[in-house]
Amino acid sequence: MREIPQVVIAMARCRNSKKAFGIRVEERGPSQWVADWAFSIPENKASKEGYGHSEISGTFAIDSQQYPGCPHCHARLIVKCSCGGTACWDGEQRKVSCPWCGAKGVIGGEIESLSAGNDR
Ligand SMILES: [Zn+2]
Ligand SMILES: [Zn+2]
Repeated sequence: MREIPQVVIAMARCRNSKKAFGIRVEERGPSQWVADWAFSIPENKASKEGYGHSEISGTFAIDSQQYPGCPHCHARLIVKCSCGGTACWDGEQRKVSCPWCGAKGVIGGEIESLSAGNDR
């Protein structure tokens, strides 16, 4: 039996600076994922650490009490592009360009899965 909540780190990039950051996501209930921490990841580490290899699915929410926002520009929310990349979002701009693939997309819908690696 596993009592400790599962925690994964999802890789994201800042929409403004394109710098990498990690989002700590905790499973607080069956398939209920909550983001509660974000931290910047040095670019050379981002690709080597093996983040972004597994997918989490279920409902996804941000703990607005605990989640500190993007470590680079302090945007409070996150969005996911159709390319699979996750980016910070300020909650206001409806049209954003993806820091991963460069595509300009329109924000819509909730995040249903995130690419995540194990917390190590
Ligand atoms: Zn940002
Ligand atoms: Zn993209």
